[in-house]
Amino acid sequence: MSEDKYEPVIGLEVHIQLLTASKAYSGDSTEYGAAANTNVSPVSLGHPGVLPVVNEKMIEYAVKLGLACHCEIREYNEFARKNYFYADMPKGYQISQHHTPICNGGYITIKDTEGQEKRINITRIHMEEDSGKSIHDQDPFNTLIDLNRAGVPLLEMVSEPEIKTPEEAYQYLTEVRKLVRYLDICDGNMEEGSMRCDANVSVMLKGADKFGEKVEVKNMNSIRNVQRALEHEIKRQIDCLENNLLIYQETRTFDAVAGTTSVMRTKEEADDYRYFTEPDLPQVIVKQEYVDEIQAELPQLPDQLFEKYTKELGLSAYDATVIIDSKSISTYYEALIAVTSNYKAAANWLMGPIKSYLNENAIPIGEFVIKPESIAALIGLVKSGKVSFTVAAQKVFPLLVQNPNMDPESLAIEGNLIQDSDEDSLNDFVKQAIAKYPDKVLEYKSGKKGLIGLFMGEVMKLSKGKADPKKANQLVQELLEQD
Ligand code: ADP
Ligand code: MG
Repeated sequence: MSEDKYEPVIGLEVHIQLLTASKAYSGDSTEYGAAANTNVSPVSLGHPGVLPVVNEKMIEYAVKLGLACHCEIREYNEFARKNYFYADMPKGYQISQHHTPICNGGYITIKDTEGQEKRINITRIHMEEDSGKSIHDQDPFNTLIDLNRAGVPLLEMVSEPEIKTPEEAYQYLTEVRKLVRYLDICDGNMEEGSMRCDANVSVMLKGADKFGEKVEVKNMNSIRNVQRALEHEIKRQIDCLENNLLIYQETRTFDAVAGTTSVMRTKEEADDYRYFTEPDLPQVIVKQEYVDEIQAELPQLPDQLFEKYTKELGLSAYDATVIIDSKSISTYYEALIAVTSNYKAAANWLMGPIKSYLNENAIPIGEFVIKPESIAALIGLVKSGKVSFTVAAQKVFPLLVQNPNMDPESLAIEGNLIQDSDEDSLNDFVKQAIAKYPDKVLEYKSGKKGLIGLFMGEVMKLSKGKADPKKANQLVQELLEQD
């Protein structure tokens, strides 16, 4: 197959919209969904003579992301004007960074298709501002402009061309999204545009030492669509090469419905931004002490949690991955393991009964009413043999959801759910069960050991589900094996 002859090369540019209360260079609110053009002071409107001021939170968030990605943090930071005209950018330039991105180097760890860990190096992370929004679908004759978004702070994170497959690109973006959510600097919602990705892709003959001509693909509104766009684009480029057609360095747009890309602009119209140092903003000096302070306050990040869960707590890689996947789930798990040392049982409860309950009722875990202490108490009840896991999950747990402030053991007692391990009554049930099926006893004795299930079923029925299954099983076996 011709595809085997080629190898794709991918580099991603990710825009991360920061969750600051005010804009990058003014005090205007960044509130999402406000009435159009209400969060706009003369700075956002680009009036001549107004002066920008750097939002310190933007610096803090950039340093947070840089540290989380193992980057070097620059001490002397300049801002630069990136000049171009666009209707939703009234200043005629964007305040960005050029030669002095705040973060350099660093990497994101992904797992390749064989489950092997792979580092994707990061070229740079720099600060910049968002443009306003052009709205084309509200007025039949005019494009409307909303400048509420103009000036909202962004981080642009650029990867080295080290991503080899669309699947790896998917993983890289998933990791970046997880990271910004753990850091609480961006909501990571690609569907709403608060995280955006431009994908650069080229193909070359396998083992070639020179990359092919790259194409930049834009307008993917989900991580999955980035993967789809890349899959399509790689096929298209290979087709071109196989048919001796040239690949042009151009920007293409992805059509999610058709699953295809088409030309937006070509290199002939390439941008020349005439960057120069922003004269209205002083240098920002990021001192080592400041970086150290932020480092000390970083939350536990996905990679660290994975190490801890698999190495210290003994969870499987799968369980650890599922828990870490969402910050709110791992936060609950952390609270749970602070009150029980039964880590594996805690993981099972979280991924079993708790997750099913939350999914079935569409409740986010942040709104889950049962406190970790009560789940720990449930785990204790099962461990001490007072209730079986099944009764705990199917009977006590629902009672606890209804009465989240009650103690699980009291609920189990009230609900008459405490396991019967009283030998006398258990003995009676076992005898009754065996007496009911004399012919099955003979079959059992002649070797059909599987029949034990029948007797056990009878015991559980007689005890209304409260017999301790381990003890009952032992007794049934003892009695069946007599003489
Ligand atoms: P530009 O100046 O056009 O933005 P850059 O060199 O800054 O180009 O690279 C932008 C992105 O494109 C980076 O993520 C980089 O890794 C990636 N990239 C560069 N060259 C290639 C190539 N030949 N194929 C695929 N990706 C590439
Ligand atoms: Mg670029």
